[in-house]
Amino acid sequence: MSKIISGVSLSQEIKSKMKEEVKQLVKIFNRPPHLAVICVGDNPASISYVKGKEKDCLEVGIKATTIHLDEKVSEKTLLDLIKSLNEDRTVDGILVQLPLPKTIDEQKVLDFIAPMKDVDGFHPNNVASLYLKRTSIQPCTPKGVIKLLKSENINLEGVNACVIGRSNIVGMPLAKMLLDENATVTICHSKTKNLEEITKCADLIISCVGKPKFIKASMVKDGCVVIDVGVNRLNGKLCGDVDFDEVSKKASYITKVPGGVGPMTRCCLLENTILTFKLNNKI
Ligand code: NAP
Repeated sequence: MSKIISGVSLSQEIKSKMKEEVKQLVKIFNRPPHLAVICVGDNPASISYVKGKEKDCLEVGIKATTIHLDEKVSEKTLLDLIKSLNEDRTVDGILVQLPLPKTIDEQKVLDFIAPMKDVDGFHPNNVASLYLKRTSIQPCTPKGVIKLLKSENINLEGVNACVIGRSNIVGMPLAKMLLDENATVTICHSKTKNLEEITKCADLIISCVGKPKFIKASMVKDGCVVIDVGVNRLNGKLCGDVDFDEVSKKASYITKVPGGVGPMTRCCLLENTILTFKLNNKI
């Protein structure tokens, strides 16, 4: 049986340290780090994610302000709001909850956030900094995955790592971060031929696909480390990409959904908010 890497306990551990750090920052700067979250429309999933972010911030002492905008808001109004938050010195981090209504150019909006306040790490400047190995605000999910692996002292140097998925927010930055840890990285996607042949050679598989029970035991070699980034629903129940019951019989380490990568993503958002506070206060 494999060892389950718990994102719940690791994130709790990190959050209690952050709580202390925030207390110290408040002593020095007379205010806590401040995250502004913009939520457009009334998509129930977005509202629930935003509430989760507010709760997380409260837990560690970060101030969170959510600005709800109507579904029909114009792109210009949204950009004007971001401009004012960019200029507001009491706001450290800005997050726009995705997806945005189809009438709004999502990329244009994300690009408009000041790079130093971009807690999601999606701004082209932060993406470039990641690829150029400069100090950057890293996207939360891949950052959380690396933390999970490091928490178990899993050796990444020289391992064959297979990242399945190549999105700009998860697969691609994760592949780069693994490369920076000296892993040998293969990036797979929907056009990959013989996926199973590749995954069977991997010491580490990270699935970022978004399809329930996509990773079967037959795709995994004995002793492989398996990280499940996927978030799906199957028969009304939340599940990842990995057929957990079967794959956990072969893997050495594995994450569960829920309780694996998700809590780490949330935790890294808090960490990035503290980071933007420090960057903006030049500490
Ligand atoms: P995405 O943009 O839809 O990317 C999915 C990737 O999977 C694409 O690169 C796609 O390939 C690849 N793919 C699809 N079918 C495949 C197949 N049959 N074989 C191999 N690759 C295949 O999704 P995302 O935003 O990266 O998110 C991925 C999953 O992670 C989703 O379930 C999402 O909900 C979840 N997620 C979780 C967290 C968390 O905190 N736990 C955070 C973010 C996302 P192509 O590029 O060729 O289309």
